[in-house]
Amino acid sequence: METPVIEAEGLSKIYTSRFGTRNVRALDGIDLSVGPGEVFGLLGPNGAGKTTAVKILLGLTRPTGGSAHLFGIPVADPKSRQRVGYLPEGHRFPGYLTARQTLSIFGRMSGMSRSDLNARIPELLARVGLSDWLDVKVKKFSKGMTQRLGLASALVHDPEVLLLDEPTDGVDPVGRREIRDLLRGEASRGRAILLNSHLLSEIELTCDRVAVLRKGRVAAQGSIADLTAQGSRYRMAVSPSDETMIAAFRASGASVERRNGHLLLTTRDLEHLNALVDTARARGGVLSELSPVRSSLEDVFVDLVRTGEEEDKVQ
Ligand code: ADP
Ligand code: MG
Repeated sequence: METPVIEAEGLSKIYTSRFGTRNVRALDGIDLSVGPGEVFGLLGPNGAGKTTAVKILLGLTRPTGGSAHLFGIPVADPKSRQRVGYLPEGHRFPGYLTARQTLSIFGRMSGMSRSDLNARIPELLARVGLSDWLDVKVKKFSKGMTQRLGLASALVHDPEVLLLDEPTDGVDPVGRREIRDLLRGEASRGRAILLNSHLLSEIELTCDRVAVLRKGRVAAQGSIADLTAQGSRYRMAVSPSDETMIAAFRASGASVERRNGHLLLTTRDLEHLNALVDTARARGGVLSELSPVRSSLEDVFVDLVRTGEEEDKVQ
């Protein structure tokens, strides 16, 4: 297998206050791996540890345990950051600079020549849909435009990996869509993208794979399809479906809801589902539909966070 572009193993971080009186376990052993051309989403409520993970990957803060590599190079080595573009959470550019000047500063900081930048900046601003705003001061920009300019600044030196912390926070739906399309375009050029967000819908629409972070731990990880297929819920149309049949379903441990003339069943596994079909047929029921119900990522996310809260209560 080729080396992942971004890799973390057992990454942990405990922030210690100055006198060691208050420790915060921000990350508690997370494993991640992102390949070229992949958009990977770190999803989690505020305080879950998303920003900490990105800061460790950038060498801005040191992990207290585990290891992280970019292109196979340990993140403690500055060479690991040469091909990285970064968009910090809630970034601001000075309002008196124009879009062109802003990108020029970022390009110069990455060691690009003026002549390269003269060609690169208009091309980049076109890619993020800001061609008409080249020489307009940033203070005139909407939130969505500022985020797109931020993406252009992260892309200025043509990095192979993008680390984006809440890139769509505060952006309206149209702007979010533009950013989403932009990110998909960059991934199709082979860039690896790690995206942090507390916005479920964003992650669901943008990412190939997702890790749900809860209190510094990965509560679930996989493709959106994998995660949303986890709850074994089925829609069944059976008639007649009287209360005694529903009671029999419930007695076997299924949860049952009536919805628009259908039964919505939650079962343990396929065997359990088949046993319910047997029960229905033994009672003279005729099935006209049986289909899996995918939960949205939101359902999965809410379930995961709730489960965590209940575990915390037990402890
Ligand atoms: P997220 O980006 O998911 O909102 P963060 O990584 O910013 O989460 O924070 C994770 C936890 O670590 C939170 O409890 C936060 O208060 C704490 N934390 C973050 N940065 C520091 C710091 N520099 N010092 C102490 N605690 C911190
Ligand atoms: Mg954050």
